[in-house]
Amino acid sequence: MARVNTVLGPVPAETLGIVAFHEHIGYGMPGSELDAKWWKSPEQKYEETVPKLRRFHELGGGTFVDATGICNGRDVDYYKSLSAKTGVHIVACTGFVGGDTALSHFAKASVEYLADQFIHEITVGIGRSGAQAGIIKVGVSRGGRMTELDKRIYRAAARAAKLTGVPIMTHLAIDAEPAVEIFHDEGLPLDRVVFGHVDDGVNADKTNDVWIAEQGGRIGFDTFGYETELPDPPFWARPRQERLDHFLRFIGGPGRLEKVLASADANCSPLGWPGVKGHTVNYIFEDLIPDLRKAGVDEATITTIFVDNPANFLTLHA
Ligand SMILES: [Zn+2]
Repeated sequence: MARVNTVLGPVPAETLGIVAFHEHIGYGMPGSELDAKWWKSPEQKYEETVPKLRRFHELGGGTFVDATGICNGRDVDYYKSLSAKTGVHIVACTGFVGGDTALSHFAKASVEYLADQFIHEITVGIGRSGAQAGIIKVGVSRGGRMTELDKRIYRAAARAAKLTGVPIMTHLAIDAEPAVEIFHDEGLPLDRVVFGHVDDGVNADKTNDVWIAEQGGRIGFDTFGYETELPDPPFWARPRQERLDHFLRFIGGPGRLEKVLASADANCSPLGWPGVKGHTVNYIFEDLIPDLRKAGVDEATITTIFVDNPANFLTLHA
């Protein structure tokens, strides 16, 4: 059976429905939980998050992939209760947003140690939650070049992905050559990797999405909604139409529609920072899908982007 790991157990890939493939229940920098300025009670977090997930479900959302990872506020027992309460499948990830958010215990670890950690979280479970990770997160540290630690994490992720069959998602797709080389070197087919954030306002110009797709990688347009039109846009915002044009141009290329995934990278309840006002996962339904329809994208293509491609990608290939 084609199955996908969710926090409440494996489910058939055909039951995922519309997938938001790169989102966050709550993301914060390591240590932010120690800053009393930002403390939130469990009730507050719940109150901020449940309505967004309920709305997601009402609008037709089936599956929410949490891209938070180790050290950035991942809380799997909490995700289990959110999933049970709202009926939304939640997929948790193992791995790290980037080497620069891995705390020293992990930053000093060998490839073998990191791979074992990822494999354990995928096959046995995360902590004592029993929830198995469904995807591995890796990323490029600040500075725009892969660091030695980033590379160590990518290599460990490649080994874990190959052994367990879960896919990999990257934070940033800049400096992609060393990443592609590591995946080749470890014998991981590139269609098991989505290279993310190709569309953000800081990195889009420095990201060779067409080249990555030609190598066989999947492409994540996953910062939809972080637009300069917002009242208080973040530094990675981009004009709405510019991002949409980029996306339409990309999927118009030969063989590229099947390689694309789209998401909003929103936070239901940010940890240690105020978050971006006016942006939620539901941008996908309230703005993005209507924009695509207005641009002439047909329903079959929308289904390919939000249902078929993520189901195919998230399915365990072991
Ligand atoms: Zn993210």
